Amino acid sequence: MKNECLICMAPLVYLDTDEMMECAICHKKENSKTRCVNGHYVCNACHMAGLDAIIALCLASTSNDCKIAWENR
Ligand SMILES: [Zn+2]
Ligand SMILES: [Zn+2]
Repeated sequence: MKNECLICMAPLVYLDTDEMMECAICHKKENSKTRCVNGHYVCNACHMAGLDAIIALCLASTSNDCKIAWENR
């Protein structure tokens, strides 16, 4: 796994204990120890399925809100 955020490219932080995270892309909630310094979490399914698509969408978007770009694709 890459050690930077898929959404904002910020560094990831690794927590000592699991926390309930909401995926920034599909909004699924699950326990994880990993999120970025800005609080984004991306679940494994989205990581695997959409890496390239997400990056392309975010690069093409003039908005910082990649969630909207994703939902309107
Ligand atoms: Zn982020
Ligand atoms: Zn997800």
